[in-house]
Amino acid sequence: MGTSVDTATHCPYCSLQCGVAMRPAPPRPPVIEPTEFPTNRGGLCAKGWSAAELLDHPDRLLTPLVRTDPADRRSPFRPATWDEALGRVVDAIRTSQERYGLPSVGVFGGGGLTNEKAYQLGKFARVALRTPHIDYNGRFCMSSAATAGNRAFGIDRGLPFPLADLAEAQTILLVGANPAETMPPAMQYFDAGRAAGATHIVVDPRRTATARGATMHLQPTPGTDLALANGLLHIAIREGYVDEDYIATRTTGFEAVRQAASKYWPDRVERLTGVDETQLRATVRALATAGSAMILTARGAEQHSTGTDTAQAFINLALALGLPGKPYSGYGTITGQGNGQGGREHGQKADQLPGYRRIDDPAARAHVAGVWGVDPDELPGPGKSAVEMLDALGTPGGVRTLLVFASNIVVSAPDRNRVRESLRALDFLVVSDIFLSETAAQADVVLPTAQWAEEEGTMTNLEGRVLRRKQVLPPPDGVLDDLTFMSTLANRLGRGEFFSADPRVVFDELRRASAGGIADYAGITYERIEKEDGVFWPCPDEGHPGTQRLFAEEFATPDKRARFIRVDHRDVPEPTDLEYPYVLTTGRIMQHYQSGNQTRRSRSLQMTAHDPRVELHPDLARQLGVAANDLVELRSRRGRAVFRALVTDTIRPDTVFAPFHWGGAASANALTDPTLDRYSRMPSFKVCAVAVARVGGP
Ligand code: SF4
Repeated sequence: MGTSVDTATHCPYCSLQCGVAMRPAPPRPPVIEPTEFPTNRGGLCAKGWSAAELLDHPDRLLTPLVRTDPADRRSPFRPATWDEALGRVVDAIRTSQERYGLPSVGVFGGGGLTNEKAYQLGKFARVALRTPHIDYNGRFCMSSAATAGNRAFGIDRGLPFPLADLAEAQTILLVGANPAETMPPAMQYFDAGRAAGATHIVVDPRRTATARGATMHLQPTPGTDLALANGLLHIAIREGYVDEDYIATRTTGFEAVRQAASKYWPDRVERLTGVDETQLRATVRALATAGSAMILTARGAEQHSTGTDTAQAFINLALALGLPGKPYSGYGTITGQGNGQGGREHGQKADQLPGYRRIDDPAARAHVAGVWGVDPDELPGPGKSAVEMLDALGTPGGVRTLLVFASNIVVSAPDRNRVRESLRALDFLVVSDIFLSETAAQADVVLPTAQWAEEEGTMTNLEGRVLRRKQVLPPPDGVLDDLTFMSTLANRLGRGEFFSADPRVVFDELRRASAGGIADYAGITYERIEKEDGVFWPCPDEGHPGTQRLFAEEFATPDKRARFIRVDHRDVPEPTDLEYPYVLTTGRIMQHYQSGNQTRRSRSLQMTAHDPRVELHPDLARQLGVAANDLVELRSRRGRAVFRALVTDTIRPDTVFAPFHWGGAASANALTDPTLDRYSRMPSFKVCAVAVARVGGP
């Protein structure tokens, strides 16, 4: 373990936010070791071990970049001073606003930003730019489960209980989640539960590492999880497993859901999902007869045009069985991005203000405007969500100048060819990043920003635990952190008095802005976080212990009861046909994170995962004449991508899987369907129709 000069901080990647100690090793970057922090308890995955490689990476941006010919975005970049780069940005903002009005400037944020930066970005958009159009890449990640949680419980916190509770649950139903690959240190909680005799059931079209370790694996057709959940509820009702007392005293709306579930006879569900009735019944029995049981969803269930309703269907099942609020029981969603939870609480969403307040709520507007020192009427209303904003780039009445922070949308947004075209249609694109990402490569101005170990701030992990991110070393000369950049830019726009570049000052303001809201941070201080291994929100005052477990007594709805909401199966927006006969589902692999902008540059990670692989079942490979390592082209209605073949019987024969961490010719998001969920505006990443063909040998 660390010495006295180690700095305790957290891994920059996923929402587990493993604790790490950074030991100075000049002239090289600090050495990383895992700590016994309560999330990882000494564990770390390959991404965490490699994270320091980024700090002195040769690709690091160390100076702003501008185009040699400002009028031609195809002209080469050249280094520039901050003064010149910011001058170009301010000129572009002013030109857009004068020609097309205030909403012609848009902001695109990221779920990896610290709470301070996410908060400041929302305020920057509304107070400095005075635009309604700010959204972020979390729209591609957590938005469906967040919407469903808010509808049912009146609050959205990924896990409403600490991670340690996973080890105590006697049954866990895990839907569309693969923590063995995406956050391996979290498996210690699942493993401890299994060692103590717990039953774990995994629902996934692939027999993933997580599924292989489970008690039972349900392998449905992609896009049918909602039907599966309603089918499980049907069985629970018919076999008398529902908790009528809990339903009567703690919920509303069950009758409509009971009626809807009555149509989901097991034979129909078996036809829709491909999961046999025996497994359906065994799943219900395991959930209903255990002393404690959890239902957890993740992106596999949520990244659909029916993602919100699918999460809702599993919440309905959990409520019918009386699980939420009982010890070691309930519904939760496993957040993906490092600050996926905090990133959606502080106002970088098109429809929200800090504290998870609705931007169209007059009381919320008055409260936040009061903290910001502006007139509530000055605050813009709701703006366009992520994909809608991208669709409107460069269009009449749309966004003409876009500022992108911590997001590589050319790789991570659906239908990448359309995204690239949309970015080209902009009058001006500004990207703040640590590397020249695929998105930054299309920009007019690129601004080099500080990295995780070079900044102070807070992150909120998948449990709702607020953590400290600490500065271990200063940013390289010439690099500014985003808070400094925002306050400098605000100053040039004549709104500087509203912005601080000091993370502590920003956090204190965030606490006041969040006070009384759903995500209430008022009682959380940097000192408490340090002393208490993080503090769980809501925490309304400094004497409050923070809230590890939600819903034991009441839900956060006006009548304190959870809401059942009737939901029904709908076919996927893009069914397979003769031209596109296979289902593509996309996802993550252990060595890479999100768009791969960071992890694709890590030497150690590249050694084991340097090229993207498409998974095909041996039957499909035989049928198509594909052997292992052959080059395979996938083609959808939107584009093409080429991968090396990974032939494996862990996937259904009618489905192929491709990771989305790569850009260029192997971009899975060249294929994906941008059809949006009607409530969360989540794109349909997890299912589209493709043709598959061998195009080359190994
Ligand atoms: Fe932990 Fe996630 Fe970082 Fe891996 S990527 S070390 S699981 S925080």
